[in-house]
Amino acid sequence: MKFCPKCEVRLKQDSSNSFICPKCSYSEKGGKDRKQVKGESSSIIDVLDENEKTETLPVIKMDCEKCGHTEAVWWMLQTRSADEPTTQFYRCIKCNYTWRNYA
Ligand SMILES: [Zn+2]
Ligand SMILES: [Zn+2]
Repeated sequence: MKFCPKCEVRLKQDSSNSFICPKCSYSEKGGKDRKQVKGESSSIIDVLDENEKTETLPVIKMDCEKCGHTEAVWWMLQTRSADEPTTQFYRCIKCNYTWRNYA
């Protein structure tokens, strides 16, 4: 049972499965409106941008240069040239500050 948020009148269900307020003609979509969440991709993440989730990455003891927190996640990234060493990235799990380690 649904009610109109404006006039608190019980909404009528119409043939298209929507709910209509008989008083102010407020309408609300009814029925199945659930979004399907697709499973995670199976591809291995080797590049991360600022918005990428880091929950699955390994955590190590590392001092954050920014906030001083002592735990960070890390991942490796091979640069374009094969001559260059693999770059190691760290991200503070507290403030999300990301930095790299060339060593
Ligand atoms: Zn109404
Ligand atoms: Zn930090």
